[in-house]
Amino acid sequence: METKAFQAESKKLLDMMIHSIYTHKEIFLRELISNASDAIDKLYFRSLTDDSVGMSKDDFEIRIDLDRDARTITVTDNGIGMTAEELEKNLGTIASSGSLAFKKDNELGEDQQIIGQFGVGFYSAFMVAKRVTVYSKAFGSDKAYKWQSEGVEGYTIEETEMDTHGTKIVLELMEDTDDEGYSEFLEQYRIQGLIKRYSDYIRFPIKMEVSHRHLKDGTENEYEDVISLDTLNTMVPLWRRNRTELTDDDYNTFYQEKFTDYMSPMAYKHVHNEGIVSYDALLYIPSKAPYDYYTREYEKGLQLYTNGVLIMDKCGDLLPDYYSFVRGLVDSEDLSLNISREMLQHDRQLRAIAKSIEKTIKNELTRMIKSDRDKYEQFFEAFGTQLKYGVYADYGMHKDDLQDLLLFHSSRGDKPITLAEYVESMPEDQKDIYYASGATPEAIAALPQAEAVLAKGYEILYFTAPVDEFAAKQMIAYKDKPFKSVTESDLDLSTEEEKKELEEKQTENKPLLEAMGAALAGKVERVALSSRLKSHAVCLTSEGDLTLEMEKVLNAMPTDKKVQAKLVMELNPTHPVFAKLTVLNGTDDEKVAKYAKLLYNQALLMEGMPVENPAEFSELICELMA
Ligand code: ADP
Repeated sequence: METKAFQAESKKLLDMMIHSIYTHKEIFLRELISNASDAIDKLYFRSLTDDSVGMSKDDFEIRIDLDRDARTITVTDNGIGMTAEELEKNLGTIASSGSLAFKKDNELGEDQQIIGQFGVGFYSAFMVAKRVTVYSKAFGSDKAYKWQSEGVEGYTIEETEMDTHGTKIVLELMEDTDDEGYSEFLEQYRIQGLIKRYSDYIRFPIKMEVSHRHLKDGTENEYEDVISLDTLNTMVPLWRRNRTELTDDDYNTFYQEKFTDYMSPMAYKHVHNEGIVSYDALLYIPSKAPYDYYTREYEKGLQLYTNGVLIMDKCGDLLPDYYSFVRGLVDSEDLSLNISREMLQHDRQLRAIAKSIEKTIKNELTRMIKSDRDKYEQFFEAFGTQLKYGVYADYGMHKDDLQDLLLFHSSRGDKPITLAEYVESMPEDQKDIYYASGATPEAIAALPQAEAVLAKGYEILYFTAPVDEFAAKQMIAYKDKPFKSVTESDLDLSTEEEKKELEEKQTENKPLLEAMGAALAGKVERVALSSRLKSHAVCLTSEGDLTLEMEKVLNAMPTDKKVQAKLVMELNPTHPVFAKLTVLNGTDDEKVAKYAKLLYNQALLMEGMPVENPAEFSELICELMA
């Protein structure tokens, strides 16, 4: 018989695989069991819509047989089996995963249940076996085939006889060496342990003949071995088990394996819901945002099972965008098995589940704010931006649901606070919620516009993320307290008396202010006197909805349309610079215009904006110095 060579790349890969991909040899069993389970799933899936299969869930099983003398481990399944072509394609080419092809053929996209998708699992058998023989008979075919290989050198395929459909894989273990032992895999307790560890949740029974030592009837110390065919796995998925039986460790390990995260989750929630819709769910909040979280590549969604059959790997409809960081799964008996995406989208059951899950997530986050604040802050650090986008998105439709989950730094101290906490500690005369935008809390604290607000004893929320101000604009108010930027031109912090005084001064200096305004035409709407400035000479404020910070964010977006905030340059009438300006007014108009530009650029700098014409700015300063 002709020996076929593996495809060239496969050969290299196989070599690499055997020696380096897996650090633990023992996982070969997990891989073979997963393949068997996949193969059964495929036939089971078919049986749901095709009566000719003639099998029910209880008819499916995986068997393990150990033969110490022959040094073999045999894994048998009565799943869908493989044709000669499939054997060739699936086992002759590494990294050509038949499971993936199955999904494509059935137009199930990425949604169909599959454990291995990389087409390398099977080859892990060569980490422990010197020869692997695969017997397989495809469902519906009357021919069976035998595939055999001793590793990198190649493989053979020939016809053989088999009674039923399915696959039987025989591993002939390597000889033990000084460094490596393989015989351990012939011990029943070792296999039992491996199944418990890696394959306990496989939903089909994994059976093996196990010998139990019993006291012989009528004796006190004579024993006999009784052999029985035992099911080694509990088959009950973790999420169907009772919470009280499970430890944090169980949940965390499950998460790490299932969602390939090297870190334990920050929090988890196990839900058994009974009501209008019944479902079980495992929900996890990862400790860290995945590297692609804030990109388009990131795909939200929960795994969706119905009756333990996975029908979708990432069901996006189960999670709103603002909770897209949640990972986990949902299993519901109530779902129709119609797995087309569109059908699911309109499924009322599914929508009800999504609603209930959203509530669960919100409750959990709310609980964390109250009783696990440090953890919540850590959570918010990772995913808070997403919640703020949620407030802003869809024209603020979800703001009521999300506003109490937000945290902001503030002038009060290092700890971020909630909006409720802000409002609770407002002095009685304070009507608005003040905020200021900037790159860092330090930069914001130093803003001239903040001075007067702080002097009143009012707290200021520090908006350091680009989305913050947009979210605030969308909320408009929290508990009837309007959000107000400290850079708004009509802050209204003064007493009537102060206002009157300012107005008088303003009229008095009208010519100066107008002259300065003219020098800054196109940049500011007007130049005005201000009572908000204490130590600084100048600041910029804005009229209307658009602030300078928002202008910055919007203009950084990749569109041609640029926006411009309506700015007012405010001067401090008690500052020596203003005194100087009043002297110059009418005597040296050129200087007044130059100083106007200087002050404007300084104000821009304090806002964290670039000066418009750095060369001119620098020249003006030099002129001043010389
Ligand atoms: P993966 O499972 O990652 O796709 P494997 O190398 O483990 O890759 O298996 C390659 C392919 O061989 C599988 O995708 C599947 O199509 C087929 N296969 C492996 N084991 C079995 C089995 N027991 N029954 C049917 N097909 C199998």
